[in-house]
Amino acid sequence: MKKSIEKLRKFFRLEADRGYDNKAVMGGLGNILSSWDLEAREDQLSEQIIQAVISRLRDYHQLTPDSREVVLKGIWKRVQDYTGGKDIQQSTAQSAPDAASPPQEKTPPLETTADQPPPPPAAKAPKEPSQPEQPPVSQPPAYELDSPITEVKGIGAKRAQALNKLGINTVNDLLFTFPRRHDDYSQLKTINKLWYGDEVTIIGTVKSVSSRQIHSKKMTLVEAVVTDKSGSLRVTWFNQPWLEKQLSRVKHISLSGEVEQYLGRLTMNNPDWEPLSEEQLHTNRIVPVYPLTEGLNQKWLRKMIHQVLQTTLPQVIDPLPPKIRDQAELIPLQTALKEIHYPEDHQTLKRAITRLAFDEIFLLQMGVFRQKILWESREARVFESPCEWMDQQLARLPYQLTNAQQKALTQIREDLQSGRPMNRLLQGDVGSGKTAVAAMSILIVAEHSAQTALMAPTSILAEQHYQSLMEFLSGEDSPLGEEDIRLLIGSTPEQEKDQIRRGLEEGQIKVVIGTHALLEEPVIFDDLQLAVIDEQHRFGVEQRGTLREKGQNPHLMVMTATPIPRSLALTIYGDLDISIIDQLPPGRQEVETHLLSPSERERAYRLIRGQVDQGNQAFIIYPLVEESDQSDLRAAVEEYERLQREIFSDYSLGLLHGRLHPEQKEETMAEFRNRETQILISTSVIEVGVDIPQATVMLVEGAHRFGLAQLHQFRGRVGRGKDKAYCILIPGDTKEIENKRLLAMTETNDGFKLAELDLKLRGPGQFLGTRQSGYSELSLAKITDVEMIEKARRAARDLIQEDPDLAAQKHQELAQKINQFWTPGGGSDLS
Ligand code: ADP
Ligand code: MG
Repeated sequence: MKKSIEKLRKFFRLEADRGYDNKAVMGGLGNILSSWDLEAREDQLSEQIIQAVISRLRDYHQLTPDSREVVLKGIWKRVQDYTGGKDIQQSTAQSAPDAASPPQEKTPPLETTADQPPPPPAAKAPKEPSQPEQPPVSQPPAYELDSPITEVKGIGAKRAQALNKLGINTVNDLLFTFPRRHDDYSQLKTINKLWYGDEVTIIGTVKSVSSRQIHSKKMTLVEAVVTDKSGSLRVTWFNQPWLEKQLSRVKHISLSGEVEQYLGRLTMNNPDWEPLSEEQLHTNRIVPVYPLTEGLNQKWLRKMIHQVLQTTLPQVIDPLPPKIRDQAELIPLQTALKEIHYPEDHQTLKRAITRLAFDEIFLLQMGVFRQKILWESREARVFESPCEWMDQQLARLPYQLTNAQQKALTQIREDLQSGRPMNRLLQGDVGSGKTAVAAMSILIVAEHSAQTALMAPTSILAEQHYQSLMEFLSGEDSPLGEEDIRLLIGSTPEQEKDQIRRGLEEGQIKVVIGTHALLEEPVIFDDLQLAVIDEQHRFGVEQRGTLREKGQNPHLMVMTATPIPRSLALTIYGDLDISIIDQLPPGRQEVETHLLSPSERERAYRLIRGQVDQGNQAFIIYPLVEESDQSDLRAAVEEYERLQREIFSDYSLGLLHGRLHPEQKEETMAEFRNRETQILISTSVIEVGVDIPQATVMLVEGAHRFGLAQLHQFRGRVGRGKDKAYCILIPGDTKEIENKRLLAMTETNDGFKLAELDLKLRGPGQFLGTRQSGYSELSLAKITDVEMIEKARRAARDLIQEDPDLAAQKHQELAQKINQFWTPGGGSDLS
């Protein structure tokens, strides 16, 4: 008898024996569904019968025992009709299942099914042989979901190591290793339908294989001619001489890759390939293509995952409460897992992706909401800021706040007097004036004699903030004197550091501005009430937590210029309230941006000379992607010398890079700020925050090596004054002139638009940087899928309202899953 039918029989019987009390299965009979429908499909029961069983059992728990009896008998009758009565007769003749009987059915041999995808379901379920059968007892696999992968038959130490590299450590990880794409062998392109630029998989027969040397390039070229019914295609592999022998043994082959052109003919270069067996040619199936690393091959990994799917899928428990699953119209987890690996068709694949993507967002949201609730349940000191007093303080600024700045400040003032810890993100494009808003908030806290810490990602930026706060905040009628504000960075002399630490601990120092140095152990505050983090995307979430822990439920404000599309902001910053400064100070002009090829560099130099002659200043950036990269560094230093000597000999140039001694850095910045130097040659150390209003040219060399967000930040260093400003991008290579990021820069100054594009080009993981993880976890969810995010958010919110601590028994699985998802360092902020 088929396993799935046997299972029904067993449980129905038990239920009948117990008088239909719905206790035959733990949690109720409905609980078998998530695994049953999968088994039933494996058994190739018709979809009609599967749906009939599911729909009737789903509401089973709500029925009276009498109705239950009717329902079960009804289902059984249908099953009986369907199978022609055979299965049933045997089973009814049999007594209750005998658990001691030997396992009777083995999982199908995987050696074949993995390489050759399972055959398409038969139109009609084949009849079972009518010999007496033992009730099946599913054979327990030799491993559990949380077993290390080495316990899976076929995975040795070496392969395990390779898998570890992909982050796969347990059997469960294997189940959750999703294909990066699927090849649809049911809808292949024939060779005569190929187009230049297509990304395709084709299947054909290898007609000939040859290899030759290209002496000029010292390489071996292996060429194969592959044909199908429609035509033939020449395919080339470079520098893989061993392929000649391998390919000559292959008859049928599948090739995946991009269709290119060579001398007017279509070709493929270095495509992924796989030998195919005769049957495979005719299976119309969608097969998974997994991410690989050295030491792994597609075929083998497919086989392993297929094996693990077959043996452990029934152990997978769906953590999503059925109510949420139903409301969001999601398929059960087990089905989704099965379908994401071996989808029946494109529609089921889509449903599987939807389900699994929902889980990702939902888990993330649950964590974020719980975090928020936790914060909101805490008390914080109340800081009033009467309007009259505030107006007086605002008068210290050399300008009026923009409406957007005012609005943000109002929201912050409300937070500060709410009695709950502020937890606010202040977001505004580069140059929108976030610092002034932060400065006013600091004043409010200082007025009540409490302490503030302001943390910036670089010492250059910390120093700049120190100077401007000293200028604006200390003075007549200010709660702050010059002695109350201090700078603590890595290069601060040890003796002074000690002094500052003492001042903070004893409470004389009210405002400390610094870098990571603030987080170091010995810094203790007497009464830290406000923590401000500038350019927060440069810090990890743990650092946010660490700074916050230096006080008792202090108010927190984080600032960022990385404009994040709304859907993403809601998700990632769901635990923060958001203020947006969506307006630049008056009089700003768009920075005129040009993309020049390396040969046009002289034009850029001419522009710089012209601007400097008018009394303005310029930045020239060299890409030094890693501050430790010696050769890049040398290039930057040599360029500086060459420019000073040959190009700008009449001007004085400054040089700034991360390897300089901190005092030298400060001196170089000071000289530039005071206009002693007119042109600053720098690596990316000035990327964020630096504010030199009279700088009007930003020339970025090797521009193709920077990300879009970085380029936008660089550009934000100019155009801060009244004068028209320019940004010139020169890629290192003429062919990068077509670079999408660089072109986008010339098309818009709008940070939001650029961020959206960046997100599309790079995906959320890279966009946010791996440090803001949580997002590296999102392998399926498209963060741009607003509808899905909203749905998951709603579900999370409802659940939190219903069971804030996830204390209910039925939420235990979920609670555990959330904890796993939000492991320390994995994006949680459980401070
Ligand atoms: P960001 O938001 O990038 O941190 P900053 O705080 O560095 O921006 O401000 C950018 C520049 O704009 C600074 O030179 C600052 O003095 C100036 N600024 C800020 N607010 C205003 C305003 N309301 N009116 C005029 N200039 C302003
Ligand atoms: Mg700033």
